[in-house]
Amino acid sequence: MSTPSSFRGNKAALPSKVCVVCGRVMTWRRSWAKNWAEVKYCSDACRRLKAHRG
Ligand SMILES: [Zn+2]
Repeated sequence: MSTPSSFRGNKAALPSKVCVVCGRVMTWRRSWAKNWAEVKYCSDACRRLKAHRG
């Protein structure tokens, strides 16, 4: 067994939440670090779907 150098047994610590549109589980991304609390959609497609439906 080999361990990727980017994950030193730390991957389980990443937070996750569920997309309010499609229900898919989103795992924390570095690009979301600043607004993780406000992230509701897994993608722009879901964001648009939600906006379209009001
Ligand atoms: Zn989604």
